[in-house]
Amino acid sequence: MKSKFIICHYDEIGLKGKNRKFFEEKLRDNIRQNLKKIMSDKVEGFEYIKRISGRIIVKLTEDGEKKEEEISRALQNVFGIAYFAFAVSCGQKMNEIKKTALEILSEKKFKTFRISCQRSKKEFPLTSQEINEQVGAHIVERLNGKVKLENPNVDCFIEIVDSFTFLYLEKIRGAGGLPSGTSGKVIVLLSGGIDSPVSTYYILKRGATAIFLHFHSLPYTSPASLDKTKELATALNKFQLNSKLYLVPFIEIQKQIMTKAPAKMRVILYRRFMMRIAEKISKKEGALAIVTGESLGQVASQTMENMAAIEECVKIPILRPLIGFDKKEIIVKAEEIETYEISILPHEDCCSLFVPKHPETKAKIQEVIKAEKDLDIKKLVEEAVKTLAISE
Ligand code: ATP
Ligand code: MG
Repeated sequence: MKSKFIICHYDEIGLKGKNRKFFEEKLRDNIRQNLKKIMSDKVEGFEYIKRISGRIIVKLTEDGEKKEEEISRALQNVFGIAYFAFAVSCGQKMNEIKKTALEILSEKKFKTFRISCQRSKKEFPLTSQEINEQVGAHIVERLNGKVKLENPNVDCFIEIVDSFTFLYLEKIRGAGGLPSGTSGKVIVLLSGGIDSPVSTYYILKRGATAIFLHFHSLPYTSPASLDKTKELATALNKFQLNSKLYLVPFIEIQKQIMTKAPAKMRVILYRRFMMRIAEKISKKEGALAIVTGESLGQVASQTMENMAAIEECVKIPILRPLIGFDKKEIIVKAEEIETYEISILPHEDCCSLFVPKHPETKAKIQEVIKAEKDLDIKKLVEEAVKTLAISE
């Protein structure tokens, strides 16, 4: 039997009080955009998509019904959905509900089953429990199934809501989180490594929109590292609608730091320049924070002292979604979100150039400021911003 509707359930949006409508509408729009991405221009995959009480429903066209697998994959990346289901619908008379339950269950092989009704329409004459019992009895009689409330072979879900009745046999887990575009913009410092893409995933999951910023040392590093960063940005854009990638030449700043500042301070000074440039871009973009892939103590530049020294030069908040993650946990997530294979391709990061043997691990802010005294900070930042490129 073909599915006619997709029912999308969410949980956290339900807690949003007065903002609820805003969150639900964003989620509806995001679902629409994601469905459009997988349908060709000529094919309308769905007749309508709308909010009904506590859910977003999509009425599929015949063409849409044929694309169940692709739709399912796409919806699993839409933040804000707790779970969704491909459902059939019928009228609200008990004999129609029984008939439809029988139809969908007839297509399955099972011994034990359960009926799980959710009745959001309170005027409906029967309680959920009464519906479960009546539909259950019908299935026992017609299909010889046995009711089992714990771990049945098959669960038949019935939702009675507004003027609709939906029935389905499978709940598909969604990505959770909050709908993309509900928490404001951030500038993500995206390197070619494993951590920053995972960090991006977590900030996107909380409803932020990411604008990517990558520093490169062309011609000292290969153009392949830029391709890799673009590939990572594309991979991450499956969790949001498209976004920009800023590509900033960093070699001039690195050369100046190499020649004019103590070697042990290099990485900290690189990072401070990255933050200053990111802050400038955030103003232009209306972004509210900078996001990095740092995790406490993972490498020398990520000690508490060094992170404090790095962020001292900007006012904008710096968010570090991975701060408490172990490398292993980050890798597991990177594999799951399909960025790992891209991240492990060989590349040179701008920061792996000219790295000293003994970097500072407990930077003191006064010493860091002193280390920068011979650098024309304002000019270097302006130059970098002037020469940046944007890849859409
Ligand atoms: P990653 O795996 O994200 O590269 P890492 O463990 O290699 O992280 P570092 O190289 O110390 O850590 O970088 C810390 C953070 O600084 C990165 O997670 C990223 O947010 C930012 N960063 C580092 N290099 C770059 C770069 N070339 N362009 C943009 N951001 C960068
Ligand atoms: Mg790195």
